[in-house]
Amino acid sequence: MKVQRSFQKGDDHRGDLYLVPTPIGNLEDMTFRGVRILSEVSLILSEDTRHTIHLLNHYEINNRLESFHDHSSKAEADHYIRHLLDGKDIALVSDAGMPLINDPGHPLVVEALEVGIHVISLPGANAALTALISSGLPIHQFAYYGFFPKNKQKKKEILQKINVMNGVAIFYESPYRIRQAVEAVYNFLSPETSIVIARELTKRYEEYIRGSASQVMDYLKQNSIKGECVLMIQTQAQELHSLEEFSDQGIQHKVQQLIKDENIKPNKAIAQVAKHLDRSRKEIYNIYHQLRETD
Ligand code: SAM
Repeated sequence: MKVQRSFQKGDDHRGDLYLVPTPIGNLEDMTFRGVRILSEVSLILSEDTRHTIHLLNHYEINNRLESFHDHSSKAEADHYIRHLLDGKDIALVSDAGMPLINDPGHPLVVEALEVGIHVISLPGANAALTALISSGLPIHQFAYYGFFPKNKQKKKEILQKINVMNGVAIFYESPYRIRQAVEAVYNFLSPETSIVIARELTKRYEEYIRGSASQVMDYLKQNSIKGECVLMIQTQAQELHSLEEFSDQGIQHKVQQLIKDENIKPNKAIAQVAKHLDRSRKEIYNIYHQLRETD
């Protein structure tokens, strides 16, 4: 066990590793403290120096800047740890928002903590939380999952996973894939699931699209969107029926329900369930008939 008293140093002559958030669009969103720390440290490590120099110029910060990202080698990380052990402070920034939140830096933080360096994070800009608090969704409980998966099976898995809590699931997503992401919510959760897309936060074309999966899907069919997006999905534990649909019994129940409620033939009901669950008709057919045999 270790206790970090960030601002009580005693005889400790080590430097500190500061994690400094930077704006997610609007350059005014730096804090006074963030600007001061970036000016005072002996070295700034940045995901992309060409990007960070723009911010430093804006705030007239003339400080040493070096590149550090996910592909930086262990030797490079060790080099910066020695720098900290020599008593020099380092600030780590990413291109936008909080470092480490879907951005580089975690291995450096772990290594720094291992050798007793104080790791001090500053509050500041972050796309997920900025989007969440103005979403209008019930935010008493939320979970952040990073980028929405690209792969169909992974989409299904993550949506199954999130749908056991009552709250909001937050994802980052590219504008090119946002429509497919909403489609997955429509298919694997329900068309009524509440969704909010927050786009281009803090920038000129900031926009929120709030509605059910079905409404948002219709909107996205007619309007292509650009820029950076945060996708928020309201999850409801009582929607557990969607999860149950994935069990063999749930599938049998769903097929029988459709036959009865919509007065359709078993094969048509099987086709509908297969589409809804993104599985093959044959698979659903086998599950349905196998289960019926054991009735
Ligand atoms: N570290 C960042 C943070 O704290 O939010 C996230 C970095 S991640 C590599 C970049 C993703 O964050 C984008 O693809 C987008 O999904 C989201 N994002 C960043 N800036 C945004 C903005 N201004 N509006 C909406 N989403 C944004």
